[in-house]
Amino acid sequence: MSEVLLDGTFGDCNEGQRKAIALIERCGKHLLELITDILDLAKIESGKLELELSLTSVQNLCSYSLSFIQEIAHKKQIQLTMQVPPNLDLIEVDERRMRQVLINLLTNAIKFTPSGGLVTIDVNVDRSQQKILFAVSDTGIGIAPEDIPKLFQVFVQIDSKLNRQQEGTGLGLALVKRIVELHQGNIELVSTVGQGSQFTLILPYPISSTSQDSRDSIRSCDRAETIASSVGAAGENLPIQPLILLAEDNEANIDTFSGYLTGCGFRMMIARNGEEAIATAHNQIPDLILMDIQMPTMNGLEAIQQLRSDSRFDKVPIIALTALAMASDRERCIEAGANEYIAKPVMMKQLLATIRQLLAV
Ligand code: MN
Repeated sequence: MSEVLLDGTFGDCNEGQRKAIALIERCGKHLLELITDILDLAKIESGKLELELSLTSVQNLCSYSLSFIQEIAHKKQIQLTMQVPPNLDLIEVDERRMRQVLINLLTNAIKFTPSGGLVTIDVNVDRSQQKILFAVSDTGIGIAPEDIPKLFQVFVQIDSKLNRQQEGTGLGLALVKRIVELHQGNIELVSTVGQGSQFTLILPYPISSTSQDSRDSIRSCDRAETIASSVGAAGENLPIQPLILLAEDNEANIDTFSGYLTGCGFRMMIARNGEEAIATAHNQIPDLILMDIQMPTMNGLEAIQQLRSDSRFDKVPIIALTALAMASDRERCIEAGANEYIAKPVMMKQLLATIRQLLAV
């Protein structure tokens, strides 16, 4: 339905409506990914996941997986290469699941590789061992030896600090490992911090009577692109529109909060981490600050503490926003110097009421 609305099938939407619909769609997709991963894992853990085995071309499997991530690699200026020996036999795998595995590894490789880097997929056959090896390598940040055992566990992200840089469900590699094991295979990892990582999938390679054919063609994958543009100023005629600094690293939240608050007649400044928040506040002193807590580089607690140590900012109301949602979080935020604390997901009406109360408008 969101696509239909964006297409203008039901009539034209204005810019604000289009942005809102695109956001619903984007968040819906993220939610779906999360649910899908959790369901997959639950099915595997309970022994209910059955593989749909079919004879599959290795070449097609790899090139399909690469085509899926080409766009994000291109955006990040990461070079992709693939090496598959000619005349391989077909392998008997659950093609959809194996694509899921490769796409997952490739996506991770791109995520953790700085732009200008290289991501490769190399296939080799060990005929004496009757194994086929798929190696996905990157020139990325690498993984410390002590973190490797945590890597394939469910709900464990290596960097669980408040300032973690990478998004994700934390379920991807746990799924990869289990799917590979369902195929009677295993996965190996070699990594050097600062140089890169190589994940190798090792699957049985039984001699198949059929030779490679071309019945599989690369299917195109359509992924909706999202639109990004700035929100126009709203028309409420307040004598002076209060200026709110929003420090938040999540684009969906930035769009939601700034869209809503602009519509309510506030002026907005956006910062995407604690450092930016402090710099922006120095540039122009805001009337109120909305501070996310979990942000990269410098988290919200640190930023609040630094702002409060400066006499220019000791009277500026700060509302801490966090999804941590534990009983002690409120105390931590208030202790750091926040006036108020609102747990995510934030109800917009509650946010507005709190802002108005603190600003006495
Ligand atoms: Mn955050």
